[in-house]
Amino acid sequence: MLKKIAVLTSGGDAPGMNSCVRAVVRAGLSKGFEVYGIYNGYKGIMEGDIKLLNRHSVSEILNKGGTVLGTARFPEFKDENVRKIAAEILTEKFGIDAVVGIGGDGTYKGLEGLSKLGIKTIGIPATIDNDIASTEYTIGFDTALNTIIECVDKLRDTSSSHQRCSIIEVMGNRCGDLAACAGIATGAELTITSDKLMTKKEVVDFLQSQRKQGKKHAIVIISEKITDVHEFAHEIQEKCGFDTRAEVIGHMQRGGSPTARDRITAARMGVYAVELLTKGITSVCIGLIDNKLTYNEIDTALKMPRKDSSNYVDIATLIG
Ligand code: ATP
Repeated sequence: MLKKIAVLTSGGDAPGMNSCVRAVVRAGLSKGFEVYGIYNGYKGIMEGDIKLLNRHSVSEILNKGGTVLGTARFPEFKDENVRKIAAEILTEKFGIDAVVGIGGDGTYKGLEGLSKLGIKTIGIPATIDNDIASTEYTIGFDTALNTIIECVDKLRDTSSSHQRCSIIEVMGNRCGDLAACAGIATGAELTITSDKLMTKKEVVDFLQSQRKQGKKHAIVIISEKITDVHEFAHEIQEKCGFDTRAEVIGHMQRGGSPTARDRITAARMGVYAVELLTKGITSVCIGLIDNKLTYNEIDTALKMPRKDSSNYVDIATLIG
């Protein structure tokens, strides 16, 4: 009989992780489990940074961005020998039977490794990029998107007053959903993601034609790691005569109090994780498909093809 479960957050922090931790802890306690918090992801297991939690341990965290459990990039966990030690620490030192891991694909790989060593695991998708193939939604996306929209709206005010072109880089390279949805929501003139690349010439030609038609300002939203946006802005200015600036929104996108959507989705997923454990369903990761909670084997989920943002980009382009 499963008695002791633990929860960790890992990979990049995402707003809503705290709501999820809170849900796992409180739902777990109400089902009669002892619930432990593992601090700083997989690194925390190795360091024995694991504490028994109670209802009050997770009070007043729901509205906070980031993760109160902390997170860490710990590449050493890719090493099976390290994972073996981790599994021993969990079972022998703490008597922990199951781990709920909240994070992205990398976090899932860590969980899969632990599953193979006999630990029961559940993965919960949390990453602002929305880049996990087995779910339509990852915790943190909505908050990050709203932060981007707020920034772009502000930039639009100033770029329109100064008759400027703004090239705005947002996060999400493997999945362009942040850029594409921001493009729709802010009415960007152009949206570029890794699924819908444009050549520099195409961008320049488009902006030149807009300028000829009397357009005084333009917003271009582009996913990270596609090009050096500062150099590109310079090039556009040279070729189009548009006063052009590049803005990289950066880590600001990760922070902030989670939106209602992120809090509620995170809470639903956290409660569902505990439900799955009580039913003996493990080595799976949770997804949200058509707003219904679902689950897949972690190894199956990791093999699913990457999500494609083209459809959203097409919409943004049509009305931008
Ligand atoms: P994000 O999408 O926000 O980057 P993520 O969970 O994908 O989140 P990663 O840094 O890739 O973030 O992974 C989180 C942690 O999971 C790593 O620091 C490492 O400890 C563990 N991990 C990653 N890849 C593996 C792997 N192949 N095997 C075992 N553990 C892994």
